[in-house]
Amino acid sequence: MTMLTIENLVKSFQGSGSKKRKGTEDPDARVFAVNDISLDVGEGEMFTLLGPSGCGKTTTLRSVAGLERPDSGRLNVAGRDLFSGGVDGKTLNVPANKRGLGMVFQSYAIWPHMTVFDNVAFPLQVRKRSERPGKREISDRVGKVLETMELSHLADRQATKLSGGQQQRLALARAIVIEPPLLLLDEPLSNLDAKLRESLRYELKRLQRDLGITSIYVTHDQIEALALSSTIAVMKDGVVLQQGRPREVYESPNCKFVAEFIGTSNFLPGTVIGHEGDFVDVDTAVGRMRLESSVKIPTGDAVIAAVRPESFELSVKRWGDRVNEFSGTVSNRAFLGDAVDHIVRIRDATVRVRGNPSLSVEPGTEVFLSADPSQVTLVPVD
Ligand code: ADP
Ligand code: MG
Repeated sequence: MTMLTIENLVKSFQGSGSKKRKGTEDPDARVFAVNDISLDVGEGEMFTLLGPSGCGKTTTLRSVAGLERPDSGRLNVAGRDLFSGGVDGKTLNVPANKRGLGMVFQSYAIWPHMTVFDNVAFPLQVRKRSERPGKREISDRVGKVLETMELSHLADRQATKLSGGQQQRLALARAIVIEPPLLLLDEPLSNLDAKLRESLRYELKRLQRDLGITSIYVTHDQIEALALSSTIAVMKDGVVLQQGRPREVYESPNCKFVAEFIGTSNFLPGTVIGHEGDFVDVDTAVGRMRLESSVKIPTGDAVIAAVRPESFELSVKRWGDRVNEFSGTVSNRAFLGDAVDHIVRIRDATVRVRGNPSLSVEPGTEVFLSADPSQVTLVPVD
């Protein structure tokens, strides 16, 4: 079943003129933040809008939420029209507070003067009398959601006394307690440090899978998108350039922009061969790789180990004591001004390594690579 349909969505803003370069642009020209987007999101999907800053992701999400009024198009959630208009002069526009959607944004936006419990209970308590659950039911539902988000032990704590990660989990708890047909997530992890981001990313994925909440996720981080999504729509300048499963998008980009935007990472297919504490060992094309992950992916599962080019360290000498140490041969190099890229052949695989230009190694040379387990990201294959 389709949970969200976006049809020919257009949203423009009055240009501020501030970006005007002398004589080149009309200061009053409208900025088409969303320029005719159509997409369908199926029930239970984790659908990601991925693209660089300014490409229109937030505007698309805010339009769905009812926080922006589109110029034209149609928005339908679970069979119910939320917006349609712009063509024949007649416009339907359901106000944001009547759309019943869950939302989590980059800033935590929790209610500071309330406890954790009250923050989550609030969206249920403010419902109008006929739709408000009883006290007992509210308490049960809040309890369940807090448990899911691993916040039960903090129920009575003042919301401001939580860490950043806990606050963001609280924002999520508050968004899902109303059991929305659609959950809208706008870069919800971008204010968190890398470690927390990884663990919350998987928590989100688990939550999304366990609860089956259809979610729209906005990010500019391609690894995050690959790790989380069932479908990715790559956006640029207000339009969707390509849409597909994560694997399709990175294996078969349909244009140069998508290839460059997604393709700056090394994706090494492999199989989980074991666990040890917070570490997972994966057999990949370059050899056995250890990575740090709080997520327990079963042994035997196919995964992809993603390593950013700058996360590989390159050396002409063997370290001998590194966890992920591989030997290979430089097949190519490219100077990028402030960095140098080496293309290194390891067994049957090729990886890109980005480093300081002070180390530039001639093609044909044997080199050694290492990647810290915390810098290797698990991307599920499904
Ligand atoms: P993203 O979330 O992908 O970074 P946005 O949707 O925030 O992108 O913005 C898309 C474009 O629309 C940008 O050029 C941005 O400057 C412009 N824009 C967004 N909101 C407004 C606004 N309220 N007024 C004017 N321009 C805006
Ligand atoms: Mg944004």
